[in-house]
Amino acid sequence: MGAETLIKSHKQFKKKYGKKYSSLFQRLVDEGQSPKTLFIACSDSRVVPNLITYAKPGDLFIARNIGNFVPPFDPESEASSTPAVIEYALSVLNVDNIILCGHTDCGACKSLHKDIPLDDIEMTHIRKWLRFGESAKEQAIAFVGIKDKKMLYRATEKFNVIEQLKNLLTYPAVKRKVAEGKIFVQGWYYHLDNGELEYFDPIEHRFLPVETVLDKMEAQQQESDSELNEQEFNEAAQ
Ligand SMILES: [Zn+2]
Repeated sequence: MGAETLIKSHKQFKKKYGKKYSSLFQRLVDEGQSPKTLFIACSDSRVVPNLITYAKPGDLFIARNIGNFVPPFDPESEASSTPAVIEYALSVLNVDNIILCGHTDCGACKSLHKDIPLDDIEMTHIRKWLRFGESAKEQAIAFVGIKDKKMLYRATEKFNVIEQLKNLLTYPAVKRKVAEGKIFVQGWYYHLDNGELEYFDPIEHRFLPVETVLDKMEAQQQESDSELNEQEFNEAAQ
């Protein structure tokens, strides 16, 4: 889509959504934003956080970068765009969810397996940025080897989600809120070809369809409801 098409599309947007969402837009200005979720995703044009979660303006506070990397907490670091988004989301907006979303066919994860020439000045920052995916690359190679490239790339993408979740926990605010049970952190893996989502289950240590989270939540709710009923029954019986 070139600039001209984008301007025409914007006219369409105003026509179609301007009226429909005008009160929402105004409320978000009057009251300010209060998103519940920080969403960290890849810059890849095929990963569209609001589209895949069906979220409205004001719902997601988003950080996107090449590879959905989270640089480990480093007070001396000057490459601090994503770290600043994380700190703002936790300390100012008080989000209570963080979703770290990786995806299939990730160019960044693929690039980890190719050397960028040191003398290519036009790729300087990409080469430096990709170091945040090194650990995922090494684990993927150790896990599946290098023969089957497709398998290697898929494994790199998934290990990358796990590694970036670990990096998230190096941030003091994330660590504290997780310890206090005030924040929910989850790693997702989005399939570009069919829109399916998986999440990383830290107990089973594998990726599962995201829908199973809802089943588990429902089961937990039923369990706590039945505990409550049992308690009520015991109290009534006394
Ligand atoms: Zn990507």
